[in-house]
Amino acid sequence: MSYELVLLNGKIHTMDEADTVASSVTIRAGLIASIDEGNTAFDPDAKVIDLQGRTVIPGLIDNHIHFLRTGLIPGHDMREMETAFTIEEALSVIQARAKTAPKGELLSALGGIHPDQFDEKRYPTLAEMNDAAPDHPVYLSISNWGPGATNALGKELIEGLGVPVGEDGIVAQGKETVDAWNALAARHSYQDTMRQTQNQMDFALSKGLTNVFDMGGTIPAGGWLDPATGYNPILELMRDDKVPMRVRVFLPVLDTDAKLPDLTARLDYTFKEFGNDIVRVVGVGEWLIPNKLQRQQPLPDFYTESVRAVAERGWIYKQHMVALEEQKAHLDVWEKVNKDIPLADLHWSMDHCYGIDQETIDRAIDLGVGISSHSARYLEGMVQSPGAPPFRMILDSDLQVGGGSDGARISTMNPWNMLYFAVTGNNHAGEQINPGQSISRQEIVRIWTQPQGWFCKEEKKMGPIEVGKYGDFVILSDDFFDEQAVPDQDIRKLTSVLTVVDGKVVHDAGVL
Ligand SMILES: [Zn+2]
Repeated sequence: MSYELVLLNGKIHTMDEADTVASSVTIRAGLIASIDEGNTAFDPDAKVIDLQGRTVIPGLIDNHIHFLRTGLIPGHDMREMETAFTIEEALSVIQARAKTAPKGELLSALGGIHPDQFDEKRYPTLAEMNDAAPDHPVYLSISNWGPGATNALGKELIEGLGVPVGEDGIVAQGKETVDAWNALAARHSYQDTMRQTQNQMDFALSKGLTNVFDMGGTIPAGGWLDPATGYNPILELMRDDKVPMRVRVFLPVLDTDAKLPDLTARLDYTFKEFGNDIVRVVGVGEWLIPNKLQRQQPLPDFYTESVRAVAERGWIYKQHMVALEEQKAHLDVWEKVNKDIPLADLHWSMDHCYGIDQETIDRAIDLGVGISSHSARYLEGMVQSPGAPPFRMILDSDLQVGGGSDGARISTMNPWNMLYFAVTGNNHAGEQINPGQSISRQEIVRIWTQPQGWFCKEEKKMGPIEVGKYGDFVILSDDFFDEQAVPDQDIRKLTSVLTVVDGKVVHDAGVL
């Protein structure tokens, strides 16, 4: 196949500084070679695609997602369940998956969903799921804590693993859900992880998500991505040239004592900002010390030493900061370290920042760090959380702002749910939870594309559609920027008809 690609006759939203909308782009050797110069291909065999007036955006970049651990989800994952909004749609997702998965094998939707997303405000019943997949166990669950819902074969399977299931197919919230997940995960092989990881990449590309900043997985139940061996599947796929999208890896650090053994090992023996344009290790995050410690205030003294070590060694760092108190406590430490080592050149990021106030934003501006503002509250009710991200206030401030999901267990992998939340303030159940803080469609696509390169020091190549940048594009099923063509309630159903990464077509719905 030619490595030149020409896109003609489109509405190409470049997300450059001037918000240019172009009509043609040529991509050569993976990089954008020309814009609005028509067909400038050198190679007579270049692939030329007539966009027929379709809307194009840069490939969407999620700057905080637990993507790789979704490869560990037991069974055949049904990501399409994230955008089923009636029981009927949920059952069609199950039926469709049953057609592609071998008989007798588990069909699963564990995380990324909530029964309140369906108009009926309930899970499909055991009988309904029996009819939809008579030959497969089916298991759905809210995140990793439940409750879960299963069909007759699923009930038999889970009970056979020693976990009780109700007569109605419901797996109780808490211990039973965690036990069920762990018991099913124990049957999930390395080859299953390889298959599932490839499926997740195909799903992401079908929605226009072309680049994920992976945040590991450090919570034992339902998502432990082993920091030592958990990256083997993606590395094997990378060596076999089977990674069709970009993956940027942030390594979590889990020190619990002042000697910082985990951080020291990472800083001493891992190459920072190393890899190729497809898979690269970027930095550390979203933890320097484990989750539980971080929710306690004040932070332990050795956190200061961790931060100092990361700054001294010049690593990029993203830090989980949900509550305002948590944000302030971390900034206290960052400001202390900043007196000796300026943080502004390091491209650090405060991640999540729910309920952040202007004073805290101003402190971030003074330090020269960025904010990663995420849409995870879309699945409202699943996480105890101190407010939604004030998108409007954050975007009106003068600092780097990137977007993301914190998917795909407490939140979704499908980026259109995340964009929908930022634009409407509505959660999965249709309730307004972020009044006065919505942003425009242009603004949300912008923060999911243009500034994202800054967060991994790849701003020269990653982000908007500009000459010299990565040739990553999404040709949309409908014109997202036209509120008549795509009313708010339809945003979540948008897909990609054609996705291009590195100048290569990596998803083709067969429309063009
Ligand atoms: Zn996270």
